[in-house]
Amino acid sequence: MNKPERLPLARNEFADDFAAARGFSGARGLSFEEPLIFEIGRPETTGVDLDEPAPFDDRLGGLERADPIGLPGLSEPEAVRHYVRLSQKNYSIDANLYPLGSCTMKHNPRFNEAAARLPGFCDVHPLQPASTVRGALELMDELAHWLMEMTGMAAAALSPRAGAHGEACGMMAIKAAIEARGEAASRRVVLAPDSAHGTNPASAALVGFEARVVPCGADGRVDLAALKARLGADVAALMLTNPNTCGLFERDVVEIAEAVHAAGAYFYCDGANFNALVGKVRPGDLGVDAMHINLHKTFSTPHGGGGPGAGPVVFSARLAPFAPIPFVRRDGERIALVEQVEPGSRSFGRMAAFHGQMGMFVRAFAYMISHGSDGMAQATEDAVLNANYLRASLKDLMSQPFGDQICMHEVLFDEAWLKGTGVSTLDFAKAMIDEGYHPMTIYFPLVVHGAMLVEPTESESKASLDLFVATLRDLAFSALEGDVERFSQAPRHAPRGRVDETRAARKPILKWTPPSGG
Ligand SMILES: *Cc1c(COP(=O)(O)O)cnc(C)c1O
Repeated sequence: MNKPERLPLARNEFADDFAAARGFSGARGLSFEEPLIFEIGRPETTGVDLDEPAPFDDRLGGLERADPIGLPGLSEPEAVRHYVRLSQKNYSIDANLYPLGSCTMKHNPRFNEAAARLPGFCDVHPLQPASTVRGALELMDELAHWLMEMTGMAAAALSPRAGAHGEACGMMAIKAAIEARGEAASRRVVLAPDSAHGTNPASAALVGFEARVVPCGADGRVDLAALKARLGADVAALMLTNPNTCGLFERDVVEIAEAVHAAGAYFYCDGANFNALVGKVRPGDLGVDAMHINLHKTFSTPHGGGGPGAGPVVFSARLAPFAPIPFVRRDGERIALVEQVEPGSRSFGRMAAFHGQMGMFVRAFAYMISHGSDGMAQATEDAVLNANYLRASLKDLMSQPFGDQICMHEVLFDEAWLKGTGVSTLDFAKAMIDEGYHPMTIYFPLVVHGAMLVEPTESESKASLDLFVATLRDLAFSALEGDVERFSQAPRHAPRGRVDETRAARKPILKWTPPSGG
């Protein structure tokens, strides 16, 4: 039989350009290439069909726009596909284990979402009369109560919008307390360990303090003697994360708090890792004066990605008088939002407009009441158990910077075990992407060379952890056996390969420029 002659493909300019840039369609398997919306949109296309406007008198006095506005025009199905395809490029906790240390990427129960979508919560407006939002105020009051109960603290401020915003809030309360003591000019230093999250010194500096470092000891914890030696009449506060960013509990925390207080300073705790303590230890009992709580980490509200977040702050009795407005006040049957600093109050004022992120409050509260105090304590235990399961399963291959010791909710490895392999922490992380995993947190904490900080969270099953362990062990063997190819070219199967991250950070292209003549 004669082979049918192959007809020349009918091509157009668009298809040619596209093929030159990305292979033919750019799609691989069921993973779609997706151009920018401006590249697929055409100004003459629209998803809606509007009548021509009736003749009208132009009141712009000749100032009307003369050029086209330049928005991309798409039909409805094109717009839907564009955004669905982009959403599919997002790695998420709904897709797979997300071991990003210090970030607590755990499952967001759908019950939280259902509660947050109740019209009485999601349709309220911050300028509505208080008499019409009694239920929302009740929920805020309950949430504040649960936070104070779990932390053993005297007051709560719900308005901060993120953990870092909460740190600034705590620092402002400490500043107000120090000013009230007449020591504003002399107490200007805030201490933080060298393993601290970068937001700690930044928050202290933002509020006008001088950030100074206290070193860690060989066990990965604050060097108590060095801290005591540094404390003095110039110190306003210590900022300490507990468990710290090496995943270790600061065993000397009570002695640290006593030393800080004896020096006349305040003890700020970065509560980002509170998910390792809930139901087990109350920070107030450890001597903490202020602590932010990342609802998006500990209490399973979605991470904002720049969107709505919430970082409530709890205060000890010593700092409670300086807490910000607004707050909910309950007086018998009456409930009200106190929005002004009242005469005689020592509140430092306001952090932000309105009361905070209602949607996050509802989600966090839904999580709390659905777990109950016993359920939250179990979540804490399981988070710590899962991290230690990973530690025990990987410790024969991967090295730990502070020796093999029981960790809390996250386990820290370093790059010592990769020495001489030609594979770096970055390469190892990139190769995980080829295996379908988001990398762990790398190069943080900064005190550890080539840090790899793994936080599995309590939401992973044993089967899921076993597959993760098998994958990391396979990668580790490849690295140790000298298969550098597998790493240096990684990720090979992601929509984009290894990017020049320095250039991307230093010279980002933030603006789309239409092709010339277009
Ligand atoms: C996440 C985190 C923060 C900051 O919290 P955001 O909500 O991201 O602002 C601060 N400290 C530690 C240790 C963290 O893990």
